[in-house]
Amino acid sequence: MKLIAPNYYPSFRCIADKCRHSCCIGWEIDIDPDTRAMYRQLPGAFGKRLNAAIDDSGEVSVFRLGPDERCPMLNSSGLCDLITALGEDALCQICADHPRFRNAFADHTEIGLGLCCEAAAMLVLAQQAPMTLILLEDDGQADTLPEEEATLLTLRDELIRCMQDESRSLSQRLHALLDAANFALPDRDWAAFYRTLERLDKQWDAALDKLPDRLPAAFPALEAQPALVRALSNFCVYLLYRHLPGALEDEDIPGRIAFCALSVRMLAALCAAHPGCTPADCAEYARMYSAEIEYSEDNLAALLDALWEE
Ligand code: SF4
Repeated sequence: MKLIAPNYYPSFRCIADKCRHSCCIGWEIDIDPDTRAMYRQLPGAFGKRLNAAIDDSGEVSVFRLGPDERCPMLNSSGLCDLITALGEDALCQICADHPRFRNAFADHTEIGLGLCCEAAAMLVLAQQAPMTLILLEDDGQADTLPEEEATLLTLRDELIRCMQDESRSLSQRLHALLDAANFALPDRDWAAFYRTLERLDKQWDAALDKLPDRLPAAFPALEAQPALVRALSNFCVYLLYRHLPGALEDEDIPGRIAFCALSVRMLAALCAAHPGCTPADCAEYARMYSAEIEYSEDNLAALLDALWEE
């Protein structure tokens, strides 16, 4: 089986105590059974403290979050006591993986970096060169790719190339994307719709409040800033890479392409509403969008439904 990743993947580094939106705060952290069993065997004061910090009352063991929703192993310096005491190998599966995601195909697995992590968002959106895919691992076993998967991946390659075509404006690329899906985005107050979804952060509400009732079809002021255009097209390529494979399950290729196009227009509108928006601001909006929308299965499903409503 092969393991494939975007070319920027090996450059990722967690910024740990420098992270302003740590994944160790505000998220429920499931502990996989193997790691839970290993934690039970840990001796001494640290083992006692660790096991007391775990809630086993539900179907899955989780860390008991503190009143401010901090993981109990996150210390006041912003570092993980588990890593400090036992090393990274002692992390449960979710903590070891985050912010990575995977999509499985018959002959390979794809891995990527989720944008809800601010270090990943900065890395992905700041890429100057077009994303390409690289081989990280290969066990030499040759499996066959079913036609349905091969067709989807060929389409995704074409859509990614379309979004990376710098001879066209960003709005032209988004139009081409929607044309390829034979899809017209419903004309509705999208900011109002996003406000009906489950929301995590008051800053997301504040950002949505700045958006107009109708998303503009083009963003001339942004189009004049190559770094922002590149950040937005990198965002779209990331979404295509990550979310188009989901169509192998729900068969909603047009809806998933439209979701990518709508998400870029939302991000562009957030940037346009932010005076003097920089690529770093754009990456922060992308992080928020990812945490609020991409990392909520319910919100993602509601958006895909809404795209078909009109
Ligand atoms: S969100 Fe990303 S950078 Fe921040 S602590 Fe988690 S993995 Fe590290």
